[in-house]
Amino acid sequence: MAKHKTHYEDCDILVVGGGMAGTGATFEARHWGRDLKIICVEKANIDRSGAVAQGLYAINCYMGMQWDENQPEDHVRYARNDLMGLVREDLGYDMARHVDSTVHMFDEWGLPMMKNPKTGRYQREGKWQIMIHGESYKPIVAEAAKKSADKIYNRIMITHLLMDENNENRVGGAVGFNMRTGDFYVFRSKTVIVAAGGASHIFKPRAVGEGMGRTWYAPWSNGSAYALPIAAGAKMTQMENRIVLCRFKDGYGPVGAYFLHLKTYTQNANGENYEKKWYEQTKKLVGEYIDHHPTPTCLRNHAFVQEVMAGGGPIQMVTKEAFQDPHLETVGWENFLGMTVGQAVVWASQNIDPKYTNPELTTSEPYVMGSHATCSGAWVSGPEDISPTEYFWGYNRMMTVEGLFGAGDTVGGSAHKFSSGSFTEGRLAAKAAVKYIQDQKAKNIKISEKQCENFKKIIYKPLENYTVGRNEITGGTVSPSYFSPIQGLQRLQKIMDEYVGGISVNYMTNENLLKKGLELLEWLQEDLEHIGAEDYHQLMRAWELKHRAITSQCVTEHTLFRKETRWPGYYYRGDHMKLDDENWHCLTVSRRDPKTGKFSMEKMPVYHIIGDEEKKKAS
Ligand SMILES: Cc1cc2nc3c(=O)[nH]c(=O)nc-3n(C[C@H](O)[C@H](O)[C@H](O)COP(=O)(O)OP(=O)(O)OC[C@H]3O[C@@H](n4cnc5c(N)ncnc54)[C@H](O)[C@@H]3O)c2cc1C
Repeated sequence: MAKHKTHYEDCDILVVGGGMAGTGATFEARHWGRDLKIICVEKANIDRSGAVAQGLYAINCYMGMQWDENQPEDHVRYARNDLMGLVREDLGYDMARHVDSTVHMFDEWGLPMMKNPKTGRYQREGKWQIMIHGESYKPIVAEAAKKSADKIYNRIMITHLLMDENNENRVGGAVGFNMRTGDFYVFRSKTVIVAAGGASHIFKPRAVGEGMGRTWYAPWSNGSAYALPIAAGAKMTQMENRIVLCRFKDGYGPVGAYFLHLKTYTQNANGENYEKKWYEQTKKLVGEYIDHHPTPTCLRNHAFVQEVMAGGGPIQMVTKEAFQDPHLETVGWENFLGMTVGQAVVWASQNIDPKYTNPELTTSEPYVMGSHATCSGAWVSGPEDISPTEYFWGYNRMMTVEGLFGAGDTVGGSAHKFSSGSFTEGRLAAKAAVKYIQDQKAKNIKISEKQCENFKKIIYKPLENYTVGRNEITGGTVSPSYFSPIQGLQRLQKIMDEYVGGISVNYMTNENLLKKGLELLEWLQEDLEHIGAEDYHQLMRAWELKHRAITSQCVTEHTLFRKETRWPGYYYRGDHMKLDDENWHCLTVSRRDPKTGKFSMEKMPVYHIIGDEEKKKAS
């Protein structure tokens, strides 16, 4: 152990993850906390890290309040509708009322925004989306964070949160290791803002074998955002609300610009509008939700999944019409250049020119995240001016562990934040964290040398497992005493896929399957003690897997708890196929006891703070 040097850093605000929410938090922390010491720690390099690493083509959350295009209330109604009624409206409203100011800063910082030449307004792609030339998006927000932080640490993976020894429910920092040098890092901090993205690769992906690693959500999003707070005893919400995306096949290329800007549409292999075919069947399952406008994302998936199961596939995107317009053809291709260039490569390799061939679509494996058309994540306090009592405990975006804040994918209940909303939520969390410190809530935090040393032993154990175990290898890589991160990952993905509703079972699960899945996950947890890592990169893989595994347990517990099928098209409870508003119009909240590792579940009320105006207008 001595060979891994220990570095200590004391600070006021520690931001874990320098993606969209993390850069927003780092930037805003400096605004309110001029004299505070602010550190941002990132697993990759913040210039090109997180889900926006490659760039984006649209900012998906912009109200346009200055032109009265939309108001925050409209966004709450939109998110509520899309999530089948279940969101934290206080969090959504709070994000929406601030998001425009974030986007205006991006504009000032030099992000190339497309503008409507006639009106001078941002070019809309859809009601909420504005178009950008977004290849430089991430380096631009990273620069703002770099100018604001006392220090940015790249290439350090945070593995555990440190807890105050004077108050077992108060955070005191975090520990991790540098993936290049192997050095051990201890960050003793008065507050921690977790902004570590969502979770991909917990369910078996469609892309396996030579395509493995290709997923829709960033493959490096490994659920640290959930695992870190879960392990510290923070409550989580809506973890069953995993998301399934309809995307171009094999490259997971985005479809938003195609639907919204190019006005393309989908059809089955016979050229039929299959969504209509499934209307009556869907109505029996979810009632009037199918009549809502726009149709909730999960219900559109549902029609897709049903049609494919009924033999109507492949489902295609009708591009042949739009692509006859040279401008739209260019937009169609450029859409991939900004964020998913791989889709263009896939089409080239499969001889698909969308001008002459309608490309195939598919539904993805499930992902866990809090910023898209889904809202899994930490159960956090809302803002004091609008949150009901059950949703408010002192500091905006603070979790149920004192001093521990979250933003972006980390935070549950507030869907449809996307890149701009995640950055905004980082800003909100940072402002509250500064206030927490100014209110003297972070006094007398005790972090002993012993606590840090214990974590050090735990963190490097996979290296030791490998060093000892490799002597027993007699052929190839098969070892009697340890297993590798990739072997563990595939085992996890198989469990989640087959028992918790992944692609190979058409997203179907039930109580018996979930109970069996939980048993297998528990055994996996036991075996993870024997994971081996041959170098620091594999050590990162080992810790990514451990974080994915605990996230998966939480997802499975939540899926077992909610006895209804609230989001057909995301997953199905075969033993409770119908949406059940009478018993389940509520949020689910879990807590894992850090001492026993056991989860407990509870229901929390959904408060509809925002009225139904828009619905009335529409009718
Ligand atoms: C394919 C795709 C397309 C999208 N399209 C759009 C779009 O068109 N428009 C739009 O507005 N939004 C879009 N989004 C959504 C947007 O990217 C996310 O909402 C946003 O990035 C979430 O912000 P975040 O900070 O929570 O996560 P991220 O931006 O992913 O940041 C998380 C960061 O945490 C780091 N990290 C993770 N674990 C650790 C750890 N243990 N220690 C240290 N660091 C860690 C990661 O490396 C990463 O940098 C898209 C996302 C994807 C994947």
